Amino acid sequence: MSSRDRSHTAFARAKELIPGGVNSPARAFGGVGGEPIFFESALGQRLTDIDGHVYLDYIGSWGPMILGHRHPRVVAAIAEMLGKGTSYGAPTEAESHLAELIIAAVPSIEKVRMVSSGTEAAMSAVRLARGFTGRDKIVKFAGNYHGHVDSLLVAAGSSAATLGVPNSPGITAGTAADTIVLEYNDVEGLEALFKTRGLDIAALLMEPVVGNMGLVTPSREFLAAARKLTLAHGSLLVFDEVMTGFRLSLGGAQQILGVTPDLTTLGKIVGGGLPLGAYGGRRDVMDHVLPAGKVFQAGTLSGNPLAVAAGTATLEELRDNPPYERLERHGARLEEGFREAAARAGVPAWVARVGSMMTMFFQKGPEVIPVTGWKTASLSDTARYADFFWKMIDRGIYLPCSQYEALFFSAAHTDADIEATIAAAAESLAGR
Ligand SMILES: *Cc1c(COP(=O)(O)O)cnc(C)c1O
Repeated sequence: MSSRDRSHTAFARAKELIPGGVNSPARAFGGVGGEPIFFESALGQRLTDIDGHVYLDYIGSWGPMILGHRHPRVVAAIAEMLGKGTSYGAPTEAESHLAELIIAAVPSIEKVRMVSSGTEAAMSAVRLARGFTGRDKIVKFAGNYHGHVDSLLVAAGSSAATLGVPNSPGITAGTAADTIVLEYNDVEGLEALFKTRGLDIAALLMEPVVGNMGLVTPSREFLAAARKLTLAHGSLLVFDEVMTGFRLSLGGAQQILGVTPDLTTLGKIVGGGLPLGAYGGRRDVMDHVLPAGKVFQAGTLSGNPLAVAAGTATLEELRDNPPYERLERHGARLEEGFREAAARAGVPAWVARVGSMMTMFFQKGPEVIPVTGWKTASLSDTARYADFFWKMIDRGIYLPCSQYEALFFSAAHTDADIEATIAAAAESLAGR
């Protein structure tokens, strides 16, 4: 592909003005080397960079764009709201309408509070769990990312994993001490912890299907243990569905897994590409949130009209024209294509997928090791992933810029797009 001169110049300028030149570290290409690509516009399944190159988009803004970019229904809803007002600091009926859609879709949610990001949703859910139970300890899993909340930025995945900063400077030892980190899918570790400290634990937070150390699926036994142990000890089970919510099904991961958490956090798709998050769950727990209860949580732009309009249009489109069968069909084909291409090229790789989320973990071989948690994910051959990433960029395929991020595709991707992507992967893996 021809040069990216404008991106190069834009990045040099941005680095002088913005730390690292980006407003979120996952964009900086730290995991693949080289310089980030700056974008001009997007439509459907395609991104256009400022040098005029067009890419098939496999990050979808890291999750939100399940309908593709500038979906007509979403654009129309934003435009309509724009003509009325963009923020009042007072309630609107639109918020209740979106709340109804969320409650109807997500099995465990009886009441929901809107915030402005997934981070805020996780932070608020932790405070609520502590306020509700009167306990301090939080349990999370290595490689699970719940936003940049102090108490949850311990052994976090995502850019934290890519950049190798499991504990950020600025998080006090006291804060980190209230967070207990276990290995994902480790049933024995979970049982042992609850046996000794179960009555100190306010909440167990987990990604019910992990996207933030690459895609990792939970075992049936692990999910069952998480539900049973929290129930038995009066701790709350919190599913972080910021990534999986409305993506794996309209009701999220909890619907396809058949496990009902006490609280759920949402973000990404719920805002339809604008900043919106939410947390919700059991009515008796949610009624502890101020002003119904005493647990403080607030936001000047919470339930922002534009974000609510985009989220509402997105959820209504997903409800009216569910893309999930199509996404599954495309996902199955992509998974098969990538796996076959790796095998043919003699590249050891573990390919994991649920619906429209997928990761190909490059490994050092010779035998392929199943990836079940951070211990196995972290064995990945990240240099080989970086090489693959750049070869795919050269072929107009924009994958996540880190081995430890899942790829996402949208309902706008066509059969031909999927086949073109598989062909590009086959060439890239064969080293051409
Ligand atoms: C993206 C993400 C978050 C954080 O959401 P932001 O909107 O980036 O703050 C939290 N949890 C999970 C599982 C995520 O994927």
